[in-house]
Amino acid sequence: MSSIIRLLPDAVANQIAAGEVIQRPASAVKELLENAIDAGASKIRLILKDSGRTLIHVIDNGSGMNEQDARMCFERHATSKLRNADDLFKIRTKGFRGEALASIASIAQVELKTKTAEAETGTCIIIEGNEIKSQEACSSNTGTSLAVKNLFYNVPARRNFLKSDNVEYRHVLEEFHRVAIAHPETAFTLIHNGEEELQLPAGTLRQRLSAIYGGSYHEKLMPVEEETTIVRISGLVSKPVFARKTRGEQFFFINNRYIKSPYLHHAVQAAFEGLIPPGEFVSYFLFLSIDPSRIDVNIHPTKTEVKFEDDHHIYSILRSAVKNSIGKFNLSPTLDFEQETGFQTYHPADKPIVPPTIKVNPDYNPFSKERAPSGGLASSKELNRYFESTLTTDHPLLPTQEIPEQKPNVITLQLGKYILSPIRSGLMIIQIRQAHERILFERILSGIRKQKGRSQQLLFPQHFTLNSENFLVLKELEPVLRGAGYDLNEFGKDTYVIHGIPPEMSETDALSALETLIAKQTISGAENKEGLEEHIAAVVAAGMSMKDGRVLRPEEMEGIIDDLFACEHPALSPSGRPTLITLNYEEIAQFFER
Ligand code: ADP
Ligand code: MG
Repeated sequence: MSSIIRLLPDAVANQIAAGEVIQRPASAVKELLENAIDAGASKIRLILKDSGRTLIHVIDNGSGMNEQDARMCFERHATSKLRNADDLFKIRTKGFRGEALASIASIAQVELKTKTAEAETGTCIIIEGNEIKSQEACSSNTGTSLAVKNLFYNVPARRNFLKSDNVEYRHVLEEFHRVAIAHPETAFTLIHNGEEELQLPAGTLRQRLSAIYGGSYHEKLMPVEEETTIVRISGLVSKPVFARKTRGEQFFFINNRYIKSPYLHHAVQAAFEGLIPPGEFVSYFLFLSIDPSRIDVNIHPTKTEVKFEDDHHIYSILRSAVKNSIGKFNLSPTLDFEQETGFQTYHPADKPIVPPTIKVNPDYNPFSKERAPSGGLASSKELNRYFESTLTTDHPLLPTQEIPEQKPNVITLQLGKYILSPIRSGLMIIQIRQAHERILFERILSGIRKQKGRSQQLLFPQHFTLNSENFLVLKELEPVLRGAGYDLNEFGKDTYVIHGIPPEMSETDALSALETLIAKQTISGAENKEGLEEHIAAVVAAGMSMKDGRVLRPEEMEGIIDDLFACEHPALSPSGRPTLITLNYEEIAQFFER
């Protein structure tokens, strides 16, 4: 029998490769933008027609190519970015596989115009279905202009598979954003069907994000910075209050390459555990620098997935970096940490620029118990002192006359579900139940972590019989529940006996919290291990917290304020709602002096 194995002709091989690398106009956009970045461009223009179906044109002012390279670049495995196998472990460029241009040229009509800085004339090449139609010297600016026309003109199956123009345009924008956010130092312009859609001047990351997502977008974000021997992390994440039910903008860049990583995503979400309601997401733009020899980006043709050596370490470094940032910046007004040099806020030209009036003490540390008395937020005792020294008891504004049972130096007031308390800069309003939940949550969580939760003994131990699946779940939860204050033991088949429950909780609430926990754990299963302690603490705290409508004694109000500010994250309830707001003097004045 004669041999039947043959080598595929190049054009066919390229088309097959194109199937992997170029799935839709957006993939070609990504490859061309990345080539422009790799060429060191400081300005990149992207011009599209019909969402890239008929035209994708990228013009850059990068290095350009000489005549020979201009022809070579369309060959398969032709790249200037790798020379030997060792280089694979030092990749700093976006490209390195040398397949993009070969793939694109096999499924489209391509016009290349390019010139290096030294050359007097440039090179123009027209190539179609991998065949060079013409090559000649031409005049050109330094840099490269590459136009891809009629993508998939010779692959009807692909062409027909494309979605509506809107959908394809969304994909293009997504790729464009990924590259533009990774490179705020590069200026970008996007023109679609003759209209200028985006104009992104070179600037900082915050400026870039504001230019893409709108003027005040960056105010929702707080900085993340961390440097260790295996990874350097920098970037921005949204403050917990801006979490949303929909997945927002979530970007990871490893060595400035956009990558998808459910694992790292989980690390960021885990840092927000207890600060945002379950099922809500924050936005983030996080840059990780890792020694290229410790990562492998070559596991997928589009290079959006990576494997890395120290993934467990990186997970926990990332998680704690984000946690630190929350601790530091959650409460501070945005403008307070806006220190990037050369920053200009984007402001509508017709509105006057009003300087920010928020005053914050830079030394204020919400974690320390001995707070500086000059703090923006003060403890109730300081507040009393302050209040006494500034207002006399017969001050016309002081409402003490109407509330005679309050001692004159007690200045906290209850208004239904709220505590009102004057502070140095204005007025603080605390939502009692939410604040109480935060306090309990942190107390319970620390009980769980130290393995010694307080519990109240039941007069009559409760038998708790479950189906066998739920029994197993409870068995798994048992150690954490003990930490939270449940005193329970196995008692024969599928039954637990409960001797004690967390203090200050009614028996009914305690048992119903237990049922909630078991039900949730059955649904989310084993993958929910990570936030288990927080989750249990949150459910128990919700069951224990004060019910709305309770009238508080002055000492109780003071206690709440003191305990709240001793919390690690005083400003949010465990389910992510605010525990307090402040109205500063200027804001109050605005109500009256409009
Ligand atoms: P890769 O980027 O993986 O090297 P490509 O097929 O995308 O492969 O590009 C092949 C080569 O063509 C690149 O290595 C580079 O030398 C050259 N090239 C492509 N685009 C440009 C550009 N915009 N400016 C300068 N050189 C380019
Ligand atoms: Mg490339």
